[in-house]
Amino acid sequence: MSDQSAATDDGSDTSIESTDASTDTDIDAGIGTDTDETTTDDSPHETPLQPPPLLTGEHLPQLRATLANATHLLVCLDFDGTLAPIVDEPDAAAPTTANETAVAGLVDAAPVTTAIVSGRSLADVRTRIDGPRIYAGNHGLELAWNETVAVHPVAHERAARLETVCEALETVLGPIPNVRIENKRLTGTVHVRTVPPAARPTVRRLTRTVVDRVGGDELEVSPGKRILEIGPTIDWGKGDAVDVITSTLPDGTVPLYIGDDVTDESAFRAIDADGISIRVGDEDPSTASFRVRSPAAVARVLDWLGTAGVELVGQRTQSLSGTELWNDDPRVGPIPERWPTPVANE
Ligand SMILES: [Mg+2]
Repeated sequence: MSDQSAATDDGSDTSIESTDASTDTDIDAGIGTDTDETTTDDSPHETPLQPPPLLTGEHLPQLRATLANATHLLVCLDFDGTLAPIVDEPDAAAPTTANETAVAGLVDAAPVTTAIVSGRSLADVRTRIDGPRIYAGNHGLELAWNETVAVHPVAHERAARLETVCEALETVLGPIPNVRIENKRLTGTVHVRTVPPAARPTVRRLTRTVVDRVGGDELEVSPGKRILEIGPTIDWGKGDAVDVITSTLPDGTVPLYIGDDVTDESAFRAIDADGISIRVGDEDPSTASFRVRSPAAVARVLDWLGTAGVELVGQRTQSLSGTELWNDDPRVGPIPERWPTPVANE
């Protein structure tokens, strides 16, 4: 994060102060009941982390200073728990109206590139939030630039093994009430949210056993919010997707990432000190710079970015280069070269 001393706080914009929980306890309550499985022994954190500070109006000078130095703004957004409240039935998840409106406003802003970075498959998440030109699905294993899709080649190779694992899990977990196995083609999810609490340890144990035996060295299990994710044993996550997206944008781009789960932590780390990272939730330890409590608070942050934030970035853009920087719209970049052979998303 940029040096606060460089900021000028005119004190006139207090809208972001409402990111305090005072007005959205209904949504916060839903999220607050959902954090018990994010601090298990499965956590990838090797050192104890602290919850980031709640984002309030007192941080506006810091945000202003960061954006005032930007030539372009990259806004990366997780979906579930960030734009959309967590719900029992994953198929029912939908962004809040306020977030839908705020995202649409950012999509239309010239100095902003907006990307959705989700654990859902591309095909799934694209039906739930429309507008952004960039989507990263399956925790960054598949990327969509406009109508072009690239799939991580190793994940693509292991899709057949994943399907076998999902079929085995259907059989093994079949007797357990309300468990749901979702094959997302490159990764799989075992949903335990609606499973009776007493049966959840059994679901986790059996899932790990099946993935070990059927997935072999190709697949592994990682935890999320009342889900278990099954994915390829490769060093690739949301943070790598954010790195790839950032690499296609102009120098001076400030990245921002908002997410709510353990899988978003790699993205927070990718943002580093030059960007803005925000974890959604109550008291989850995180490497993010700030936290907000709920998707309702996310909308207020995005609204602020779409007005005051865009104005700050736009000023910098005009002073730098006039029209030159935007003649070739950087939001319409080619598929990055880090994946040598883009694979058709059949
Ligand atoms: Mg999420």
